Amino acid sequence: MKIVGKTDVGMVRDVNQDAFKILALGQGAGLALVCDGMGGARGGDTASYIAKQVITDTIREKYDDAMGAETAKILVREAVLEANRSIYQTARENAELAGMGTTVVLALLYQNHAYVAHVGDSRLYRCRDSKLSQLTRDHSYIQEMVDRGELSPDQARQHPDRNFITRAVGVQWDVDIDLHILELKPGDRLLLCTDGLSSTCPDEQIERVLQQETIEEAAEILIQLANQGGGHDNITVVIVES
Ligand code: CA
Repeated sequence: MKIVGKTDVGMVRDVNQDAFKILALGQGAGLALVCDGMGGARGGDTASYIAKQVITDTIREKYDDAMGAETAKILVREAVLEANRSIYQTARENAELAGMGTTVVLALLYQNHAYVAHVGDSRLYRCRDSKLSQLTRDHSYIQEMVDRGELSPDQARQHPDRNFITRAVGVQWDVDIDLHILELKPGDRLLLCTDGLSSTCPDEQIERVLQQETIEEAAEILIQLANQGGGHDNITVVIVES
């Protein structure tokens, strides 16, 4: 198991409100995490920073090599709920942070499985046998329009309202979290990324890079491609190779 990550402010913004974390746990296990903060000048990076810290601390503290599948699933959910409570509480205590929130996509890699928790429009893709699949579905108005057949995925990627998400961590006292459990095969690659990548690079382009490059080079190249595509947003990629 190998994990690499990279983040970049992009070509337009002054501040990077994305955050990522790679954490090695016992017996070849690990954590890959990507967050994309939102909510004003200070709120966005505060929310993604808190999410990163709280999720990492919770998983580091409670992870156990012998925990088993059911506990692993409970743990990723609990970590996101802890982050939600912490961001929500911090926002209530600081008027200038009111309404802040963050997306979260994380994969706890444990015993040949990925335990995935997801809120918002950051994504998880898997590249298996050179074929890319998007394994999370964005919680966004634009995704709902795609689901209703009103927009194609290509139109969605360029839509001016693509940033409006329907779920975020920390905005309300509770949060609805999507959970997925994936079996990993040797050679599988997982890509966790923020919309700074997925709104700029079509899936075919991401697929080609993940097929052809080492994961270190792939992380560099994906960020370059997003910047060449305008770099209108912060860009973060974390790539796992099993
Ligand atoms: Ca973003």
